[in-house]
Amino acid sequence: MPELPEVETVRAGLERHVVGRAIESVQVLHPRAVRRDLTGPDGFSAALKGRRPQSADRRGKYLWLAVGDGEALLAHLGMSGQMLLVPPQTPLSPHVRVRFTFADSGHDLRFTDQRTFGHLMLVPFAHGDVADGAVPGAAAGRLLPSPIAHIAPDPLEAAFDPADFAARLRRRRTGIKRALLDQSLISGIGNIYADEALWRARLHWARPTETLRRGEVSRLLDAVSEVLTSALAAGGTSFDSLYVNVNGESGYFSRSLEAYGRLGLPCGRCGMPIRRDSFMNRSSFSCPRCQPRPRSAHW
Ligand SMILES: [Zn+2]
Repeated sequence: MPELPEVETVRAGLERHVVGRAIESVQVLHPRAVRRDLTGPDGFSAALKGRRPQSADRRGKYLWLAVGDGEALLAHLGMSGQMLLVPPQTPLSPHVRVRFTFADSGHDLRFTDQRTFGHLMLVPFAHGDVADGAVPGAAAGRLLPSPIAHIAPDPLEAAFDPADFAARLRRRRTGIKRALLDQSLISGIGNIYADEALWRARLHWARPTETLRRGEVSRLLDAVSEVLTSALAAGGTSFDSLYVNVNGESGYFSRSLEAYGRLGLPCGRCGMPIRRDSFMNRSSFSCPRCQPRPRSAHW
């Protein structure tokens, strides 16, 4: 499943290879890919014809192209979405859901998604008053597509405010891992990177946020940034420059995981076998010695 570093890799690819090019045609090959677009496949295709993407942006796991007229082409890659740039004559693979061709006859952009959880939609940008609403820092000079105006900044964005995050975290009164996965508090962190960041910060996943000390919060934020940044570096180097790709397994996953998926394997710091707890129908991996269970906990 693509997480923030993979989505950022795709955003950078779109910025390099798609921004500035006039869209000649849009073919929706599977209606599920545009199921959230209110105008349907035909309306979606017609509205994008002739547009010229001006910028590629991201918040958390959402990415979008500003396409003029106050509108954005918003994308979520879901479980298996990929953006592929291929020569126009390349045969369509069975999982291509939307194909964009360009007036310059250069590479096509093909949204490919085996499991069809991802989607694309053409949406207006939120007005300032919406973006300025419940989430501090959400506006911060940025226009956000309206469906995601309520999503908090992610830790790699300039709009992310560590002091504001720390204050809101302590008020939340929940387990620290639940808080990390809460998109209205901080965006872009999935199950894998949450476990990795907590391992680095030596914090147990059920630790109540209201008991976190200032130093622990800043240790956690440093860990989150380190994990995301090193994953981004690994993902960013493994892609060919003309192949804007996402697969859930960037180089980072095979090389650098310290906790996630390592049940019974020795902790890289202390040698204790990594344990697994069930957590919200998924798993949490942690070190029993480096991340001791807290006296009080929000399971
Ligand atoms: Zn350990």
